[in-house]
Amino acid sequence: MAGTQIATRQPAEVRKSTILRRLAEHGYRLTATRAAIAEAIAARPAQFTARELVEELEPHRIGRATVFRALDLLVQIGLLERLHGDLSCHSYTYCAPEHHHHLVCTGCGLVTSVVAGTVEREIRNLARQANFRPETHHVEIYGRCQACQHAD
Ligand SMILES: [Zn+2]
Ligand SMILES: [Zn+2]
Ligand SMILES: [Zn+2]
Repeated sequence: MAGTQIATRQPAEVRKSTILRRLAEHGYRLTATRAAIAEAIAARPAQFTARELVEELEPHRIGRATVFRALDLLVQIGLLERLHGDLSCHSYTYCAPEHHHHLVCTGCGLVTSVVAGTVEREIRNLARQANFRPETHHVEIYGRCQACQHAD
């Protein structure tokens, strides 16, 4: 893996069609409910909680259980990731399926994906030194995005 890369954000339309395409590939047919959920998720550049999505979709008569099932499904097929953050409240973010790490803004919730070969190598080294065989890892860095630094 090469140096450090900061992922460019896809436009909402592209994210929405990616979600719908991946659902179709996994055998889930397109329903009005799934389209509405995909659109709501695609429109969010920031991290979001299940509750926020439930509140947004309530006026469209999409229930809490349906939203939770859709979130689980999208996590399973690799389009959404759960951020650990605050232990009492997981949030979600739309992500590309390739391995990457997260820079999460504590001001506006913006999530930026980064790929860093040096971090990957260092994690493997650390594990090797501890005689540990790593399977997966998550790196989330919390702080302030550029816009929020200026606003502070
Ligand atoms: Zn991610
Ligand atoms: Zn921010
Ligand atoms: Zn990594």
